[in-house]
Amino acid sequence: MRARRLVVGTLAAGALALSLTGCGDNVDTTERLGRKTAEATPDAGGATPSPAASGASAAPGGASDEAYKKWGLTAPLQYAPKPAQKPQIPKPGAGKVPVIDRIPVPADDKVVFLTFDDGAEKDPEFLKMAADLKLPISMFLTDSVASSDYGHFEKLRDNGSSSTINNHTLSHPNLRTLSFEGQKKEICGQQDRLEKRFGQRPPLFRPPFGNYNDDTLRAASECGVSSLVLWRVSMQINNFQYAEGSALKPGDIILAHFRGPGELKGATETQMTTRMLQRIQEQGYRIGRLEDYL
Ligand SMILES: [Zn+2]
Repeated sequence: MRARRLVVGTLAAGALALSLTGCGDNVDTTERLGRKTAEATPDAGGATPSPAASGASAAPGGASDEAYKKWGLTAPLQYAPKPAQKPQIPKPGAGKVPVIDRIPVPADDKVVFLTFDDGAEKDPEFLKMAADLKLPISMFLTDSVASSDYGHFEKLRDNGSSSTINNHTLSHPNLRTLSFEGQKKEICGQQDRLEKRFGQRPPLFRPPFGNYNDDTLRAASECGVSSLVLWRVSMQINNFQYAEGSALKPGDIILAHFRGPGELKGATETQMTTRMLQRIQEQGYRIGRLEDYL
């Protein structure tokens, strides 16, 4: 078990993430794609995680007392304050970014982190929900689907929750199929796009489908990324899919998508999010802001 634990943080991280779901057009399709890819390429590459650049900002929380009722919750959400000390994350190899799929918090610190990917769905109701609940969301945006309305995500970033905009490539390719230069084009290209549009070069990067290799870690570093962020838990339509076990674990990074009814079997983005938050509450977890821990 101990050996497995050690492996989880490094080599197996990508494979585990893959066995959840990737990001794409359709929940079922991407799940199949993710599993297939994971089987075909078990070596996820990967470096030892390590500290990333931080972004100082306000602690999450601050939702009004009644907001939770409006959005279908039976109790107010609990938010984790910014930790006094950042968790110790092992350093990566020289010239590489660290790979992070779970934040190493103490075993009794029941905190999880929300991440939303891609950017196809731009539901104004979701903006209201995120603002009302002050959800700290780390967004990972792909230019080809998000850029039709980057303003939507700017509103989400600026809603008072200290949400952030991060890199999920220009066109959402499987990076393992690309050369080092090809990967750099996808990663640096989106860094440039996001910097130009939002005024800041994102610190975090997530590879599409969770697929990466050694070239990815070097390319991301050269593009000015601080950390490659994967996930341990994936939100489907109603429930979580776990990389291991059947419950959240302290420090889990949760993957969700900006998806709408067409991809959620009729459910809206806000309905999916309500269910996700209910699942988090049922298990007694608080919501943290990922960047506060990196
Ligand atoms: Zn994606």
